[in-house]
Amino acid sequence: MTMPAHAFFRGRVVPYDEARVGVLTHALNYGTACFAGIRAYWNARESELFVFRPAEHFERFLESARLLDMTLPHTPETLTDALLELLRAELYREDCYARPLAFYADESIGVRLHNLTPEVSIVAMPYGRYIENDESLHATVSSWRRVDDTMIPPRGKIAGAYVNSAFAKTDAQRAGFDEAIVLNQDGHVSEASAANFFLVRRGMAITPPVSDNVLEGITRRSVIELLSKELGVPVLERSIDRTEITLADEVFLCGTGVQIAAVTRVDHRPIGSGRMGPVVSALRPLFFEVVRGTRADYRRWCHPVYGNATPREDRARAARAASKP
Ligand code: PMP
Repeated sequence: MTMPAHAFFRGRVVPYDEARVGVLTHALNYGTACFAGIRAYWNARESELFVFRPAEHFERFLESARLLDMTLPHTPETLTDALLELLRAELYREDCYARPLAFYADESIGVRLHNLTPEVSIVAMPYGRYIENDESLHATVSSWRRVDDTMIPPRGKIAGAYVNSAFAKTDAQRAGFDEAIVLNQDGHVSEASAANFFLVRRGMAITPPVSDNVLEGITRRSVIELLSKELGVPVLERSIDRTEITLADEVFLCGTGVQIAAVTRVDHRPIGSGRMGPVVSALRPLFFEVVRGTRADYRRWCHPVYGNATPREDRARAARAASKP
C-alpha cells in the first residue's frame, strides 16, 4: 500500500508523520472509534478525480459517531471540504480510498463512552482492488455470527465491531476461501465481512433488510437504484435463509472496498452456472461508468475534486473578493 503524504488531523491538513497518537489512546485500547471508507475515481478523459457520494458517507459517519455518543463539530459539508482539501494536497491522479476516523483521543484508562474527547482524522491513499478475484469469488458461510444491534450496533461503522469481521475473514481465508458470508443471530444471511450481500433468483434481486444486522451500505443503496431503474431487475429487501444461497442463480457482494464482486461458489457448491451471471455482468460495467462520472444521469453522485469543487475557505475568499468594489 502506498502511504499517504498528508493527513487531516486536529482540524487541518498536516504531513502524515505529524498525525500520531499515544499508545494509551482510548480508541486504540477499547475500539471506541468509528470510520468511513470512501472511494475516489480518476476520470482520465476529464482529468478529474470524483469522490463517490461523500455526503452520504459522511452522514453515516456522523450517525456512527452519534451511536458512540460523540459530539463532533462537523457536518457532512465540512467533512467533505476537509476531504477535498486533503485530496488536493495529495494531488492524486489515480483511483484512491479515503479513511475518515472519529476516535476517542483521551489517553486514559476506563471503559466508557462518556466524558471523553473525540477527534477526527482523514487520510487517503491510492487504491485499486480490495479483492483480487472479484469475478469468481469462492465464499464460505462463517461459523461466526454477526454482531447484533443489542451488542454493537452493526448499522454504525464502529471500529471495535470489526474484530467480528476480522474473525470471519481470517478463518475463511485460512480455510482457502476468498470471503466469509456471516449469518445473524436468527440464522439469516446478514452480510460478508465488509460488504453487503445480494442474491438473484427467478429474475428478482434479494438483499437482507437493514434490520438484519447489516451495515446500511452506500453501495447497497446505489445498487438497489441501478438494478431497479437501469437494469429492470426488481429488488426485494427481506430476510434470506441460508439454503437460498445454494438455490440462487447469482450471488454478489457490494461495498466501497469490494465494489461489485461476483460470488460463483459457496462452500464448494456452484452458484447457478458456477460463472458470473447476467445480472452481475450487466451491473458491474454500469457501476464503473457511474462511479467514474461518465453517466450524466448519475453525475450527482460524483463530487469533483479539482474542477468545480471549491472548499469552504476558497468559496468564502471568492465571495469576499467578488463583493469588493
Ligand atoms: N458491510 C460492512 C460490514 C462494511 O464494512 C462495508 C464497507 N463499508 C459494507 C457493508 C458496504 O458499505 P458501503 O457500501 O457503504 O461501503
